[in-house]
Amino acid sequence: MGNPTTPISFEFFPPQTPEGASKLTAARQRLAAFQPEFFSVTFGAGGSTQDRTLETIRLIHSEGHSAAPHLSCVGSTRENIRGLLHIYKDMGIKRIVALRGDLPSGMASIGEFQYANELVSFIRAQTGEHFHIEVAAYPEFHPQAKSARDDMLNYKRKINAGANSAITQYFYNADAYFRFVDETRKLGVEAPVVPGIMPIVRYSQLARFSDMCGAEIPRWMRKTMEGYGDDVESVQNFGLDVVTELCEKLIAGGAPALHFYTLNQAKASIDILQRLGYHA
Ligand code: FAD
Repeated sequence: MGNPTTPISFEFFPPQTPEGASKLTAARQRLAAFQPEFFSVTFGAGGSTQDRTLETIRLIHSEGHSAAPHLSCVGSTRENIRGLLHIYKDMGIKRIVALRGDLPSGMASIGEFQYANELVSFIRAQTGEHFHIEVAAYPEFHPQAKSARDDMLNYKRKINAGANSAITQYFYNADAYFRFVDETRKLGVEAPVVPGIMPIVRYSQLARFSDMCGAEIPRWMRKTMEGYGDDVESVQNFGLDVVTELCEKLIAGGAPALHFYTLNQAKASIDILQRLGYHA
C-alpha cells in the first residue's frame, strides 16, 4: 500500500554540541525515509544560534534534502538579513520560514524590523519570487495580539506582503484550526495553512512551552497527563493516541500538509506517522 498523500515536513533546532549534531544526523536519516517535502531549521532571535542555523541548513542541503531556514527579524538589521538571503539564494535554497521572533528577556527591542510582515516585504524586495515564503499562523491566537480579530488581520497583512503559505503554532483542538482556516477564507486569504504538530514526549516540557507560546493543552489532557506523574511511558502512549487522532481529523478535514515539531527526536513523529499509515 502507498503512503497517505498528505505531504509532511519536519522541524529541527540547530544542535549546540557535536553529540547533538550527530544525534540529529541520525534522526534526520530515519525521518528522511518518510520522504518529507522539506526539513526546516529554527533561528534564534538576537544572536547565539544564528550561525548554527546556517551550518545545519548547509549540511541538510548537502545531503540532497530540501532545507528551509527559519529567519527571524526582530533585533536584526537589513544588512544582516540581506546577507543571509543572498547566501541562501546562492546555495540553492528555495524556501524560507519568515518570522518576527522573540528577543531574549532583557534585550531591548532595537533593530530595523518590528513585525514579520516587514520581513516578508523585504525578502520579496531583495530576492523577488525566488523563495517560497512561509509565515507563522496562530489558530489559538498569538499571546501578544490585541484581539483575535487583530491577529487575523495581521496574519492577512503577512500574506498580502507576499507570503505563499503558513505553518501554525501547535494546538490540540482541531476546531481551532478549522475555524482559523474558515476565518482566513472569509477575509479573502486563500493561502494554504499547514498545521504544526507537536508530538507529546514529556508533559512538564510541553506544559512549559505551552505557557510561553499561548498554545492550549485542554484540561482533560492536562489532568490525564498530570495523573501519570513520572510514568513517562503512559504519557507517551496517551500522547500518541491523542496526537494521532488529531492528525486524522486534520487530514480528513482537508489540511494541506502536516509539519512536525520534532525537537530533534525522530521516534515520536515516526510513531504517529506509522499509526497514520505512512511507511519508510
Ligand atoms: P508577527 O506576525 O509579527 O506577529 C507578532 C505579534 O504582533 C502578533 O500578536 C500580531 O498580531 C502582532 N502584529 C503583527 N503585525 C503587526 C503590525 N503590523 N502592527 C501591529 N501588530 C502586529 N521564533 C524564533 O525566534 N525562531 C524560529 O525559528 C521560530 N520558528 C517558528 C515557527 C513557527 C511555525 C511558529 C508558529 C513560530 C515560530 N517562532 C520562532 C516563534 C515566533 O517567532 C513567535 O511566536 C513570535 O512571538 C511571533 O512571530 P510572528 O512571525 O508570528 O510575528
